[in-house]
Amino acid sequence: MSIDKTAGFSTRAIHHGYDPLDEHGALTPPLHLTSTFAFETAEDGGARFAGEAPGHIYSRISNPTVDLLEQRMAILEGGEAAVAMASGMGAITSVLWSFLRAGDEIITDKTLYGCTFSFFQHGLSRFGVAVTHVDLTNPLALETAISDKTKIVYFETPANPNMRLVDIAAISSIARRRGAKTVVDNTYATPVQTRPIEHGADIVVHSATKYLGGHGDLIAGIAVGTAEDMAEVRMVGVKDMTGAVMAPFNAMLVLRGLKTLELRVERHAQSAMMIAEMLDAHPSVAKVHYPGLASFDQYDLAKRQMDGFGGMIAFELVGGYTAGIAMMNRLNMIRRAVSLGDAETLIQHPASMTHSTYTPEERAAHGIGEGLVRISIGLETPKDILDDLHQALGRNERAVA
Ligand SMILES: *Cc1c(COP(=O)(O)O)cnc(C)c1O
Repeated sequence: MSIDKTAGFSTRAIHHGYDPLDEHGALTPPLHLTSTFAFETAEDGGARFAGEAPGHIYSRISNPTVDLLEQRMAILEGGEAAVAMASGMGAITSVLWSFLRAGDEIITDKTLYGCTFSFFQHGLSRFGVAVTHVDLTNPLALETAISDKTKIVYFETPANPNMRLVDIAAISSIARRRGAKTVVDNTYATPVQTRPIEHGADIVVHSATKYLGGHGDLIAGIAVGTAEDMAEVRMVGVKDMTGAVMAPFNAMLVLRGLKTLELRVERHAQSAMMIAEMLDAHPSVAKVHYPGLASFDQYDLAKRQMDGFGGMIAFELVGGYTAGIAMMNRLNMIRRAVSLGDAETLIQHPASMTHSTYTPEERAAHGIGEGLVRISIGLETPKDILDDLHQALGRNERAVA
């Protein structure tokens, strides 16, 4: 059954690419737990290897269950094709290894997920790739920094952990003019709220561990882009370099997650808005970073580029680092854990956890405060999340007016 691009988001997320009548009427797509695929004849095998005949060969290259997930993610992100990977880091590394070689340069935003930062700074640079950090919230800074050596411009929007936004259309038009590909990590916004390809980006990467899976029970990643770029990622980046292929069982779990993605993201965002407003008005809170607040520095860009403002909030306490730790330890229902996008509300302290891969100097230079706390608003009854945060904050020292 082919559900085309005019169908609504959830209709595509539930139906695209699968007709039960092709599989004995089974409503749920089958799980193809197989490493290899039998060829009809020796010639058929040869033709599949040569790319002259359709059909699967070996599950490090493709697998029918994984293929269905790839088709669904491609249509949801507005791309031509996708490649599913073992983790978000598997997706990021496989994409970058596919398009970079020694002597090239990558320009990235100042603020990045900790392991992505570490991969660029301590991984790619070892192999002769120059890594330049630029404040991509200012497109003019890219205009100045970009050169003929720049092959990739890479960023997250909203960025992890401080929620800064990057204007995808402005950045990707500069990159395209100079012959560089724009790669966007869309983990935070999900295609429900931002579709970077529609704004001009070339490739979207995800940690599917987060909202796409949505239940905190797997590690997975995915990349979406043109058919040509994704063929390169599949046949070079994944097949021969990282081998970071997604297991069929995980693909099945992510397919299940996608069915409720829109519903979940809407609820995450609704609760987050309510909690961001409470935090914004709270005397113990010095600053709230949430794109849906009118006080957010880039509120206009948020309204222009996002359909809804997501479920992630970062905030700084008046009492700084020690107040943050004390507040986290007073929580009853909210879990102290890294990761995000789960049904459970999760809270963490980037400086000592997800962004401990940065040195303190790097954190300061990249806009990650030592007292910043990051919260992933879950799907619990909104009032219960609010009450738990409120009681934990309540006993903090108040700001003196
Ligand atoms: C978690 C995360 C990653 C890494 O994904 P894994 O699935 O843990 O490998 C990359 N980018 C962002 C924004 C993330 O939140």
